[in-house]
Amino acid sequence: IGGAPVAAAAENGHTRKVVPLSKDALQDFMVSIITQKLQDDKQPFYVLDLGEVVSLMEQWNSALPNIRPFYAVKCNPEPSFLSMLSAMGSNFDCASRAEIEYVLSLGISPDRIVFANPCKPESDIIFAEKIGVSLTTYDSEDEVYKIRKHHPKCELLLRIKPMNDGNARCPMGPKYGALPEEIEPLLRTAQAARLTVSGVSFHIGSGDADSNAYLGAIAAAKQVFETATQLGMPKMTVLDIGGGFTSGHQFTTAAPAVTSALETHFHNSPELTIIAEPGRFFAETAFTLATTIIGKRVRGELKEYWINDGLYGSMNCVLYDHATVTATPLACMSNRNNLNCGGSKAFQSTVFGPTCDALDTVLRDYQLPELQVNDWLVFPNMGAYTKAAGSNFNGFNTSAIVTHLAYAYPS
Ligand code: PLP
Repeated sequence: IGGAPVAAAAENGHTRKVVPLSKDALQDFMVSIITQKLQDDKQPFYVLDLGEVVSLMEQWNSALPNIRPFYAVKCNPEPSFLSMLSAMGSNFDCASRAEIEYVLSLGISPDRIVFANPCKPESDIIFAEKIGVSLTTYDSEDEVYKIRKHHPKCELLLRIKPMNDGNARCPMGPKYGALPEEIEPLLRTAQAARLTVSGVSFHIGSGDADSNAYLGAIAAAKQVFETATQLGMPKMTVLDIGGGFTSGHQFTTAAPAVTSALETHFHNSPELTIIAEPGRFFAETAFTLATTIIGKRVRGELKEYWINDGLYGSMNCVLYDHATVTATPLACMSNRNNLNCGGSKAFQSTVFGPTCDALDTVLRDYQLPELQVNDWLVFPNMGAYTKAAGSNFNGFNTSAIVTHLAYAYPS
């Protein structure tokens, strides 16, 4: 466990040797962590499945071979995860000075970073200039003025608002992206400031189930390229299609939709570099969270439990990311019946987080076998917008939750 498997898993020519963990292997791994490290101190922990990260990168490269991912660090800044992605060729989307610093501290060079926050504090722009991060997004005139003052060599991507991001779990449109009527003035402002606008970016919204959103956004981006040409600006060379991908079914429809829209609007553009800012796609399924039952109350058939992570911690995704979390007792994760799964009867159960706020309720009306204090409850698919946005409310410190790395070879 540690740095070595990351290097081994990502070393060229060895990537295919690492595969996602089976349920049995994940269960065995969690049991070994608990037995070796957590006998006395039953703290929650994450498992990062490096084989899953490899598999996701292979899926990305196979479906979107010409689109370089700039992983959105905000989604999950776990250092070993960033290192793994970097070793597999990903670049990075950073939102702040602190995120740029995490990425640089891993030995990643500044030219592999897009500072994809359209509204940056001046101090962050000054920092970007100093360390050589020279690609950023903008969607307001004031951003142009700040960049002209502090980082005039920085290249710009004009962030546009996609018109149909309404199906996204977390639309970005209400806050970011130039409206159609603002595009020409914003291009002119950059031109007058003698800044280089290298291209266009958009975000269709996070957790978007509607792959067609990419079609409209790519068509709109093409219009911006044409407007820039009409204004006599240097030819744009970058298209940044943002995030919004979810692994699984959504990706299998979104990737062909993107490819087809690029073919329609940007065919015959050999000078064009296409990048994306996926967060959820790489992070969500790669992380599994194990929590301990720290309290129990029985009210007839209703069983109520307290666990040591909750809505103010990793499960803030229920509020902010509109996520639905699922849970399985560690003992019931595999069908091998090697651990006592609490009997076959399921009970209506409530699972509370550890803080003293009643809002901190993770699961309601959830079917679980009867569990006991000190049993472990496991939450799959907990990598996206979870630990990254947790707090230390009531003294339960989310950032202290440890991540253990696991990898498996094909059997
Ligand atoms: N890029 C930007 C600018 C974002 O704000 C976000 C998410 O907030 C992302 C990329 C990542 O989005 P997703 O996780 O949907 O891929």
